Amino acid sequence: MKKQKLLKQYFGYDSFREGQEYLIDSILEGKDVLGIMPTGAGKSLCYQIPALMMEGITLVISPLISLMKDQVEGLNQAGIHAAYLNSSLTPGQYRKALLYAREGRYPIIYVAPERLTTEEFLDFALHTQIAMVAVDEAHCVSQWGQDFRPSYLKITEFIDRLPARPVVAAFTATATKEVKEDIIDILMLQEPALITTGFDRKNLYFGVMSPKDRYGAVKNYLDCHPGESGIVYCLTRKMVEEVCEKLGQDGFAVTKYHAGLADAERKRNQEDFIYDKKPVMVATNAFGMGIDKSNVRFVLHYGMPKNLESYYQEAGRGGRDGQPAECILLYSGQDVITNQFFIENNQDNQELDALTRQIVMERDRERLRMMTFYCFTNECLRDYILRYFGEYGSNYCGNCSNCLSQFETVEVTEMAKALVGCVKECHQRYGVNVIIETVHGADTAKIRGYRMNNNSFYGSMKKVPIYKMRQIMNHLLMQNYLVLTNDEYAIVKLTEKSEIILGGQESIMMKMAKEQEHPAKVKSGKKSADGKRSAKSSALAGREFSEAEEILFEKLRTLRMEIAREEKVPPYIVFSDKSLTHMCIVKPKNRAEMLTISGVGEYKYEKYGERFLTCIREG
Ligand code: ADP
Ligand code: MG
Repeated sequence: MKKQKLLKQYFGYDSFREGQEYLIDSILEGKDVLGIMPTGAGKSLCYQIPALMMEGITLVISPLISLMKDQVEGLNQAGIHAAYLNSSLTPGQYRKALLYAREGRYPIIYVAPERLTTEEFLDFALHTQIAMVAVDEAHCVSQWGQDFRPSYLKITEFIDRLPARPVVAAFTATATKEVKEDIIDILMLQEPALITTGFDRKNLYFGVMSPKDRYGAVKNYLDCHPGESGIVYCLTRKMVEEVCEKLGQDGFAVTKYHAGLADAERKRNQEDFIYDKKPVMVATNAFGMGIDKSNVRFVLHYGMPKNLESYYQEAGRGGRDGQPAECILLYSGQDVITNQFFIENNQDNQELDALTRQIVMERDRERLRMMTFYCFTNECLRDYILRYFGEYGSNYCGNCSNCLSQFETVEVTEMAKALVGCVKECHQRYGVNVIIETVHGADTAKIRGYRMNNNSFYGSMKKVPIYKMRQIMNHLLMQNYLVLTNDEYAIVKLTEKSEIILGGQESIMMKMAKEQEHPAKVKSGKKSADGKRSAKSSALAGREFSEAEEILFEKLRTLRMEIAREEKVPPYIVFSDKSLTHMCIVKPKNRAEMLTISGVGEYKYEKYGERFLTCIREG
């Protein structure tokens, strides 16, 4: 069967997302692949779909039991036979699963890396055709990252022992160069087809606030978002206890998670959250890895995390279904001190020698500084994050608290003219930095060496700060008034549109951060914590829900909960928020119409389609 058809039939989606098709095709051609895509991008489908098309079984290596369970439940709900092999099974269950696998009942099984080199598993693997080994969360092989797992090193040992080498497909959301190289080297990927999709998560709204009454702000937020699922991250266990208790007293259905709780309680609380019995989770950063809950609509940080890597990862647990979600950081000056204390007293570093410890600490302090600047910057928050991860975007996203409150439209015609004029006069020979430094009037050997001090625009924009000139340059490049050549030394060239600026035919307007009056100014998260969002699901619909649709949405949600209870799976595994929203808008009347809903595949339709149709009809 064709991949497109499988996508529709089993997963209920109409089109592939960025990168998915390329990776699927490469796997089907028998190539190794490495997919670096942000959380929520849809990495799982990249190996699940080829697994259904290839001869033989696909083994998926995954680091956490909860992740495997979630994925296997999802596949089973979609009508695909899958199983997991890990320490949560009794010996009897384990043997039974292996037996079924031998009989070829599963196209996909999930395996914990520790299992791979055990005798029992090898005995199975050596006598079964293995089409692919898919390594999920592949950054776990790298000692550079925070999630290094020694057991991941067993993967290559395992592959080496197989009679025929299967396709090896690796996936991660971690994009640093070291980690990427480690994955390729350690997993011994053979000329892998490689894809890195952008890190931007457009559906996430970013906000920073520094409210006097932090608890009040959280309470207010929850009041304005009834029934929505979300996470409140706190810096310490003590804070988790306090915030969770208060919210409970104030009547919210909350639960908690931190490393100080007994295993059984942690597990119970996590399930309460995943199954939407308690839609709000208050937790330390111990909570999250392995949480694939797709309908998390907000992630509030009750305090500033230690670095942007952690922040983006935690915030990124919102909106995995691709629908709008809000990530709001509630900052207080005390947070810096708390984090500094964590850095000075980091127990993980005790085994390091003194010099290395010093270096690690310095690096952590620098990361903390960058995190702190995030709380104070007036610039676009998304742009700040993306730049931190080495990506360049527009300096205005329109979907963060700064863009919505701290930006103004300004005229930059004169500055634009200087930049374009400078490019023209030097015969389009230099890169961005030289051009900007020239108009700014930098007195350096480099500029003199290029004789740019003789350029008639030299120093003409002396009064405008460099960072602003850079923003204007970015704007001109994005709007195609100028272009960069595509080689190692990117050179700025003119375009057909350049004349518009040189001829002064149009005034050039762009969004720019307002000048900051006080560096530590208090911000308000504009559309979020203080302003009510009219109806909770309206943002999901991309337009306002009517009152009737709002009521229907609630009915569908109740039905989903009912089915989730019967099936003993989390509600979002039955249908995502996105699917329910889509149903409210389309109001399908029959099978064919229902199958056009995003996330409704044939198998799921057979299982619950009728019940949802009835509910909509009665709606
Ligand atoms: P990742 O592992 O990259 O973090 P997942 O594989 O868990 O992401 O996918 C995140 C969500 O996106 C899931 O709910 C999945 O069903 C959905 N998804 C994946 N591919 C598509 C697609 N082509 N169209 C719509 N939704 C998709
Ligand atoms: Mg994943």
